[in-house]
Amino acid sequence: MSKVMIVGAGGVGRVVAHKCAQRSDIFSEIVLASRTLEKCDAIAAEIDAVQIKTAQVDADNVPELTALLNAEQPKLVINVALPYQDLTIMDACLEAGVDYLDTANYEPKDTAKFEYKWQWDYQQRFKEKGLMALLGSGFDPGMTNVYVALAAKNYFDEVQEIDIIDANAGDHGQAFATNFNPEINIREVTAACRHWENEDWVETEALKTRRFFEFPQGVGMMKIYRMYHEEMESLVKHIPTIKRAQFWMTFSDNYLKHLEVLQNIGMTRIDEVEFQGQKIVPLQFLKAVLPDPGDLGATTKGKTCIGVVAKGLKDGKEKQVYIYNICDHEQCYAEVNSQAVSYTTGVPAVVGAIMMLTGKWHKAGVWNMEQFDPEPFLEEVGPMGLPHVVIDNGYWPRL
Ligand code: NDP
Repeated sequence: MSKVMIVGAGGVGRVVAHKCAQRSDIFSEIVLASRTLEKCDAIAAEIDAVQIKTAQVDADNVPELTALLNAEQPKLVINVALPYQDLTIMDACLEAGVDYLDTANYEPKDTAKFEYKWQWDYQQRFKEKGLMALLGSGFDPGMTNVYVALAAKNYFDEVQEIDIIDANAGDHGQAFATNFNPEINIREVTAACRHWENEDWVETEALKTRRFFEFPQGVGMMKIYRMYHEEMESLVKHIPTIKRAQFWMTFSDNYLKHLEVLQNIGMTRIDEVEFQGQKIVPLQFLKAVLPDPGDLGATTKGKTCIGVVAKGLKDGKEKQVYIYNICDHEQCYAEVNSQAVSYTTGVPAVVGAIMMLTGKWHKAGVWNMEQFDPEPFLEEVGPMGLPHVVIDNGYWPRL
């Protein structure tokens, strides 16, 4: 039984708070802290089963967050603020002697470049303090890393190729909206595409390579676009037999049409521009006028389907395995007032926390998900709402 502090009260923070409250056998006390106290209070008010303590904190400010951690003394921080806060929250955890978990890797505000280097550089400091940091415990990264680890452990002698395929076949009924934080989402989608091929990164223009993929269980045929995604960086490092890694995501024609116009007119810029005597960042202004992804739950219908197609060798023969999860937006909303994109991120964050707090996955240092045994995680995450399906050697189109 452990005390946990959730930092960030957005779409994912709401799911994490609800799911921690469902597991009072593990999380004996919950503190929800974020920049805007009212958002924490609104989430806490939705949850009857457990009393959730709330707090205001600026997670960019290490002394302020350290003081809160020292006052509350949680065992673990679940960071579901923004990637910009990863390093300051890790610093505060080191100061206060608290374990750390997040769902997205660090990204500096002024450059749309996300990579693990900055956080991997904390390895020695976490080891020396006997603390653990678990990186990328969402769906992608997160569950996708666990699926690749499962493929490597149980289905192959050597995994050689992976295609991570993320479909949101849901409809939120808005002309244009993003499924998670608009600023982070648009920075990610408009970044140059990179995939791993023959021991190197190959860079191509953003969203220029596309395929059709038939998703299972009635989700159906959809267009998927190749893009860069952070879990490929840790997977090719930790599973070096992987010769080729690609990440694909579905986008509707409508989403891409709006995105193209926003890019063409400069609204996705991340540098400062002068506006009526003050400096503003166009993408941050755009975020302020777009729908809040945390409010899309009530209107979103349909499903997500995220998974991994892995190819490789077993007993000297080539084979293919597809491991995936399907999640229904309306069922998520009925359970935790949230759409499936926040749900599929928040549930693995809570299960990662359970792995750490129960000692099933605990060692000092900074780790990615594929560095642990996937099976205890999958045994926990299924009953928590994200069961997986394995198609072992079934026919699946080559990408
Ligand atoms: P939101 O924008 O909805 O929520 C972010 C929250 O963090 C807000 O409550 C915000 O406060 C708070 N916050 C921002 N800056 C600070 C700060 N300096 N100090 C304290 N709190 C702060 O984002 P989401 O919930 O959609 O996403 C949360 C995280 O999950 C992101 O890092 C995102 O990249 C990640 N993610 C990971 C996925 C995965 O599968 N691995 C998928 C989707 C998201 P305020 O309300 O005041 O703005």
